[in-house]
Amino acid sequence: MGSQNGLALHWKILIGLVLGVAVGLAINTMWDASTWNSMGVGDPASWVDGASGVEANADASVVAHGARFVRNLNGFIGDLFMRGLRFIAVPIVIFSLIVGASSLNDLSKLSRIGGKTIGIYLVTTAIAISVGLLFANIIKPGNFVSEETRDGFVAQFGDQASAKIEAAQAPDIWDTVLNIVPKNPFNAIAQGNMLQVVFASLLVGIALTLIKREKAVVVISFFDAMTDVIIKVVEIVLMIAPYAVFALIVDQIAELGLDILGSLAVYCLVVVAGLATMAFVVYPIGFKLLGGLSYGRFFKAISPAQLLAFSSASSSATLPVTMECCEQRLGIKEEVSAFVLPIGATINMDGTALYQGVAAVFIAQLYGMDLTIADQLTIVLTATLASIGTAGVPGVGMIMLVIVLESVGIPLEGIAVILGVDRILDMCRTSCNVTGDCMVCAVVASSEGAIETPEQVAARLALPMDEDPRDEGRLGK
Ligand code: ASP
Repeated sequence: MGSQNGLALHWKILIGLVLGVAVGLAINTMWDASTWNSMGVGDPASWVDGASGVEANADASVVAHGARFVRNLNGFIGDLFMRGLRFIAVPIVIFSLIVGASSLNDLSKLSRIGGKTIGIYLVTTAIAISVGLLFANIIKPGNFVSEETRDGFVAQFGDQASAKIEAAQAPDIWDTVLNIVPKNPFNAIAQGNMLQVVFASLLVGIALTLIKREKAVVVISFFDAMTDVIIKVVEIVLMIAPYAVFALIVDQIAELGLDILGSLAVYCLVVVAGLATMAFVVYPIGFKLLGGLSYGRFFKAISPAQLLAFSSASSSATLPVTMECCEQRLGIKEEVSAFVLPIGATINMDGTALYQGVAAVFIAQLYGMDLTIADQLTIVLTATLASIGTAGVPGVGMIMLVIVLESVGIPLEGIAVILGVDRILDMCRTSCNVTGDCMVCAVVASSEGAIETPEQVAARLALPMDEDPRDEGRLGK
């Protein structure tokens, strides 16, 4: 995953993203229903979406046919890429975690890594919400939206908001923990239940350390080879990443309500400023205090994952790339990355938690509610839990926001006000979520001596894959 043919992957993805934003903006501002009408399409919605509207639009011109083809091709490329990523997510975790866990020679190491991981995840999430609350209390984004605008949004998006409110369900802590143990590991794999997959793989990896070495080596060699296979598959899927990122972004930006963005600009800026503070102030301080790793090196290595998280708004879909970046580009050992990252993609959502904090205060301000210190502490607690319960897929952070609002009695209808800008903020917060997962992974890895130096990474990347020096330790050669 590098720069064999010219530009490095992260630059290609960035170019795809910038072009996607530019083309999406152009379509957003210049192409509307009247553009389709002028091409003989009377019913644009059914025409664009499929064959059912073809008859109704019998007068469509050749250009309209062409435009629809391009739009469908664009959607196809984006979906194909997302499928590719989902295809890889479960196998990459299983293979690399079994190999990683089987190379741990004592179980106390595993519990140490687990303790550090969960501890740092919780602390960074609580810091993220506090940063969000601080910004929202100082800047008061709610004061920049008039009552009429608020009520207009409630009328416009009320129905959609009600659907989200109904979907929200507070997680039960006992059930959540119990649910980590799958009743049937194959079912866990088929359903893609990440925490269950992590649990089952860990168990197999640990059991491998407890059986006869000659037998274990056969199994570990198999999974080790499969890990290499799946990394190759990631590289193949990543070949279309720049185009797919373009396709995904064009689609989103073309649909974005830019006028809504205008009236909620201050709210959006507060969320983005908070996320930027996490990425450029809090995480670097974390590195200084705990890691000893250069933040520049870290940021460069994980940038493909950050860009993909932004484009897909899904930390789960980004997971294979996050693992690739941490293992191959940063040189973190599988025993740490294959454990820390899938858990992070499922439960660690710093960006989501920050967003929930800002959104709660913003909506309270819109309704003239004063939040006491006790209310704000309740928000820290519930947003930490809500972000843990948020699945790493688009839009769920907003559904879990309901639980945060309910905990301090903030009117739920306020969700309708922020619904129109949720996707763009989702993209930003997902990027922060993934950065947070990688940060914890890197910090835990450096504290365990499980990360290569930049020179070791460079030397390894220059070798063919089957000469990976890390194989030696795994297979006990
Ligand atoms: N889309 C976010 C993620 O995948 C979750 C959310 O905040 O909606 O990390």
